[in-house]
Amino acid sequence: MNKMKEYAAMRKVELKERIAQECFPPLLLIIRVGDNPASARYVRNKIKDCEEVGIFAFEVQLTDGISTAGLVKYIQENQFNYDGIIVQQPLPKHIDQELVNRVIDPKRDVDGFHPMSRFKPATAKGIIDYLEWRDFDFEGMNAVVIGRSDIVGKPVAKLLLEKDCNVTICHSKTPHKNLMNYVYDADLIICAVGKEKFLNCTFLNNTPVIDVGINFDENGKLCGDCIGGGANVSPVPGGVGLLTRVALLENVMEAAYGS
Ligand code: NAD
Repeated sequence: MNKMKEYAAMRKVELKERIAQECFPPLLLIIRVGDNPASARYVRNKIKDCEEVGIFAFEVQLTDGISTAGLVKYIQENQFNYDGIIVQQPLPKHIDQELVNRVIDPKRDVDGFHPMSRFKPATAKGIIDYLEWRDFDFEGMNAVVIGRSDIVGKPVAKLLLEKDCNVTICHSKTPHKNLMNYVYDADLIICAVGKEKFLNCTFLNNTPVIDVGINFDENGKLCGDCIGGGANVSPVPGGVGLLTRVALLENVMEAAYGS
């Protein structure tokens, strides 16, 4: 079994045992707007994960014609009946995502998107928790994060900084030559770009690479951002996605019972 699978399976067993000790299961509200098939699939997986560990997840699907005000009202009227709330992204373009993020109660914001949320965004948390489990020695290490989005790149970089890494963030305006120099010198690489074959890892000398990307190749097969390299490059599928899913479950449990 690959190490990420092993880690996720072990954490799920722990979560299930912990929840079974409590009088009430955690309650999670998942709001989905419209009928984006990818979102529907993500939500189905989240509900399946919740069922596996004993979290009660309730899905509500709202019409994609709903206004920002309508969605905000729905959240405000319902969120306090649950321990955690997720508003599945992406939302339709006419909805103000920023405003929606801010309306969610920070104590229930298990996605960690509210600026005051008590939770870390799941992908970033999942990656750092996994590296800790692998006894990665963060202090003073050169970590290169490729990508600066609010949901992956920035939160991962922030957590790595908190672990005393030297963090370099590369993004779409980083000249490729500079990016390659940073990558050569890295002790850890987190690649979250969303482009197939973006990073060729063949030349890397066993530097751990966490491939966050989710792409589809020309045959419609799921793949990450990285090619080449060996066991030091995390697999896609069967990699970061599992870490993200388990971190989200941990946030829901914490929302319900505290840490
Ligand atoms: P995004 O599109 O918001 O951000 C992509 C980032 O890549 C941007 O910050 C951009 O500056 C950077 N970038 C683009 N071209 C670049 C280049 N040439 N050089 C350097 N940087 C460049 O995407 P995101 O939401 O951060 O997600 C990134 C990828 O991770 C996507 O494939 C997404 O599907 C995947 N993802 C996976 C999980 C998971 O659990 N496995 C979770 C979230 C996102």
